[in-house]
Amino acid sequence: MHCTVCKTGDTARGLTTVVLHRGDTAVIIKTVPADICSTCGEYYLSEAIASHVLRLAEVEVLRFAA
Ligand SMILES: [Zn+2]
Repeated sequence: MHCTVCKTGDTARGLTTVVLHRGDTAVIIKTVPADICSTCGEYYLSEAIASHVLRLAEVEVLRFAA
């Protein structure tokens, strides 16, 4: 896949760290499968992975708020 951010790189399968911000809380999810740009490091998540990551983030935020 051609990177849409830097326009020059190509993406390759790999693992990345996703940081999501919810108000004052940052949720860090490691080793997320993604397509990662070899030039700029931008990552692209599939829809299934993205929704899974969002569900994990919701759980973490609830835990912090308890
Ligand atoms: Zn790129």
